[in-house]
This record gives sequence, C-alpha cells and structure tokens, in this order.
Amino acid sequence: MIGHFFEVSQSIQEQAERALKRCSGVFAQIEEISEYNATKVLAAFGHQHVSESHFAGTTGYGYGDRGRETLDAVVAEIFGAEDALIRHNFVSGTHAITTALFGVLRPGDRIVSLTGLPYDTLQPVLGIVEGGSGSLKEFGVVYEQLDLLADGSPDYDGIAQAVSRAKVAYLQRSRGYSLRESLSIAQIERICTLVRQANPDAIIMVDNCYGEFVEKREPTQVGADLIIGSLIKNPGGGIAKTGGYIAGRADLIEQCACRLTAPGVGKEVGCTLGESRGMFMGLFFAPTVVESAVKTAVFASALFEQLGFPVYPRFDQPRADIIQAVELGSVKRLTAFCVGVQRGAPVDGFVTPEPWDMPGYDSQVIMAAGAFTMGASIELSADGPMREPYAAWMQGGITWPSGKAGVILAAQSLYEAGELPER
Ligand SMILES: *Cc1c(COP(=O)(O)O)cnc(C)c1O
Repeated sequence: MIGHFFEVSQSIQEQAERALKRCSGVFAQIEEISEYNATKVLAAFGHQHVSESHFAGTTGYGYGDRGRETLDAVVAEIFGAEDALIRHNFVSGTHAITTALFGVLRPGDRIVSLTGLPYDTLQPVLGIVEGGSGSLKEFGVVYEQLDLLADGSPDYDGIAQAVSRAKVAYLQRSRGYSLRESLSIAQIERICTLVRQANPDAIIMVDNCYGEFVEKREPTQVGADLIIGSLIKNPGGGIAKTGGYIAGRADLIEQCACRLTAPGVGKEVGCTLGESRGMFMGLFFAPTVVESAVKTAVFASALFEQLGFPVYPRFDQPRADIIQAVELGSVKRLTAFCVGVQRGAPVDGFVTPEPWDMPGYDSQVIMAAGAFTMGASIELSADGPMREPYAAWMQGGITWPSGKAGVILAAQSLYEAGELPER
C-alpha cells in the first residue's frame, strides 16, 4: 500500500508485511492497554465535570482559573495522586523536574539516584557536571548515586543502604538515550517497597518522561510520592504546545507550586492564556497517541531485527516507554536511517538531515524530526551520536499509519544507500 504514495522496493514491502504479522500479538496487548487508559482518562474528565467553560483562558494573575484547577484535578485522578500541577509555564521536562527537586530539597539534604546517572540535562541541575549556575550542589544538597548492575537492572540489594539517610530517592523510568532497559511499573513497585522499608520518610520521586500510558498503572499508583513529565512527550498527546506536570502527594505538590511561582503564592496564580483547551485535549488523546508511538516502536524493532540489526528492546519484550534503539553500526547507516525517518515526517519531510556539532556533545549528532511542535518527541523522531555503536534512538509517531510509513522509509533509505547487511 505504501508503494502507491512513496517509492519503496518490493523486498522492503515484503519484509514490512512479515514484520507486521509478527507484531500482531503484541499489538493486541498494546490496544488493550490503550483502551484501558483511554477509558480511565474519559472517566476522570466526567468525574471532574470538565466543561467548555474550562477552555476559556485567563490573563494576568489568573486567580480562580477554573480550567487550571480542573485540569490539575483530572491529572491527579488519572495518575492516582492526591494532587497535581500541570502548567504550560513549565518550559520543558527538565524545568518541571528541576522545580520538583528545588521544591522539596533543602540545604544539607541528600538525594540518591537509584537508577545510575540521571538524564543528561539534569546533571547540571544536580551540580554533578559544570555548566549552569545555581545547581542543587551550590545550595548545599548532596548527591549520591546507586549504579545499575552490569546487566542494566536496578541494584535491589543496595537500596536499603543507599537510601538510609536520603531525603529524596530518585528514579528514572525511561532508558533515555542509553542502552539500559527501562523500568517497568512492577520494578518501580519493588523499588518503592524496598525504599519504604529502609527509610519510611524518604520522598520517592520518579522522572516519568516517556513512560506515561505505556502501562496501565503509573508510578504514583505503586508507591511513588511524586512523578514528573513533559507535555511535548506522552501526556500532551501531540496537541499541547508546551508544558509539563508534577503529580503526587498534596503536601509536596504545594512545595513544588511555591517553587514554580513564589512562597505564599503557590497554585493560586498562573493565567492559562489560551492553553487550557489544548492541554485538556492532548491529555484526552494521549493514551491512543501513545498506542501509535508504541506500535511504531514495536514495528521498527521487528523490521530492523529482520534486516539484521541489533534492536533494544526486541519487538516482543515488555515495554515501559516509547523509545526504540536500533544499532546501525556505521556513520553511513545511521545517516541513511535518519534520512529515511525524515522522509516520513509531515512537516519538513522534504529536507535531508545531516550530522552536526551540537553544543554540549563530544561527537557529532544527527537528528530526524519534522514535527508540528518544535522538539516534540511524541512525534516521530530519531537521533543518534556519531560514535560507536552508531545507534539511533527513535520515538514517537502520533498516528500509527504515519509512524509505520516513517519506519518503512528508514528501511528503504538503507536499501537505496546499499547499506542493508547481507542476509
Ligand atoms: C525528555 C526527558 C527529560 C526532560 O527533557 P526535556 O527535553 O527538558 O523535556 C528528562 N528525563 C528523561 C528520561 C527524558 O526522556
């Protein structure tokens, strides 16, 4: 079918057909999770009496903005949390996580990451790399880290000791841009239980980026005190134009709100301009958009494995986020992959990505992205650093047909470049 609209070789089309057949059982599971989550979201909208009047934006202080308050309540209910803070004012996921960290940590406190080194952009926030001013370290917060084991799994035996004096126990659900495995909700539940036993007062904070709606439960439903994420990823459903959220224990949300705005002001201010409707709508769409993204990832995994490339995770492995890594193995292949993904983009599908010297990286990086929202990684995108093992990290796909097309075009691009391994 894709051959009607794009040039795709017969052999790639046949491989894609085969990959699709192998995925059918996994797809049925993904659809079941999506239906569960979509129904959960629908019910929360009803319970919280979402109405059209909530979409009217406020200006200035935004006192008594009912859309803002209702959206917080909807998010809290969906995530099984006491309260939530979902705002377009969060400029990124990093900003939301930073707000949560500075919201609950005080000088002399200790934070322990239980999943190894946190995501790149959080390292200057913690003060474990140079690069910014006003890090937690500058404010006298001590950072410690429990590394993952050699196989990438959490060091369960080390948790009790690691958190014994911690104010915050910090977890990252997604693999981010490493080849470790993402944490399943079952693993997060086990970690939460171990942290609670060892230190009942520790605040369990989870970087939930890329994980929302991939499983039926969220970390706040298995013991986490705070979860944080970005609205240009899963929970924005490809519609929210910017923003982030924090959800969890009410007393901690209050502390985070006082950090986002000002002590004494907290959640009571913050006009929504015209952003509420898109945030409600994106949240409503999010479970089915995540379904499209996860199907795209699974399909890519099956197809590129057939074509002879190592893939992480494999198509039939359980998933905890929307990320798919494909180890391409050379500059030419990584470039061809990204060129193909770009051809499948609805915006800027006609341009050819090239590796470039991205600030803060020690090797060149290539990126394929053609999104309605700049940098939105819930939309189909792929990138990778030009170094061993020349892996592409691919994520997103706000509709399944377009995600599927992007994956097939990536394979076609390798074919055209003469870069498919001999089978
Ligand atoms: C995307 C992401 C973040 C935050 O990134 P932003 O680009 O600032 O939105 C943090 N942690 C993980 C694991 C992520 O994937």
